[in-house]
Amino acid sequence: MNHNIETQNKKKADLNYIKWMKSILRRSEEVGKLELPITAIILDKKGRCIGRGSNKRETKNDPLGHAELIALRQAAWLKNDWRFNECSIIVNLEPCTMCAAALIQARMGQVIYGADDNKRGGFGGTIDLSKHKSAHHKMNVIRGILDDECEKKIKIWFKKLRNQK
Ligand SMILES: [Zn+2]
Repeated sequence: MNHNIETQNKKKADLNYIKWMKSILRRSEEVGKLELPITAIILDKKGRCIGRGSNKRETKNDPLGHAELIALRQAAWLKNDWRFNECSIIVNLEPCTMCAAALIQARMGQVIYGADDNKRGGFGGTIDLSKHKSAHHKMNVIRGILDDECEKKIKIWFKKLRNQK
């Protein structure tokens, strides 16, 4: 019985993440005109969006202008708290090592992402910081939400960039 409820809740949660990922991918189309098309959103424990960020590295000449960090700042401002144990972040690409470390510092409860990043990823793509001894809290990491679609969009973007050069 309990197991059934758990399975049902998990299914509901997965569908919800897919819905958010679709909205992230739509938003990334717009972002992709100027930046690497990455968007991140942060949900509170009730599943409400409390932060959103897209890459701003080029437009602001900011090496820290990653989608996840921008979303974190906005959500922390709204929450009036830097702790995110009850929250989830959803992003279309595996967070880089800088963002993964920031999410650990923020004690993010859950990290959900689409495509793996085998060049810069901080949750297993290169190193898994969520399992590193510097991570002092329990973090739930869910990979591969709409991963094919996420990966395809980023590949197309890089291909376009190469063609422009
Ligand atoms: Zn990053």
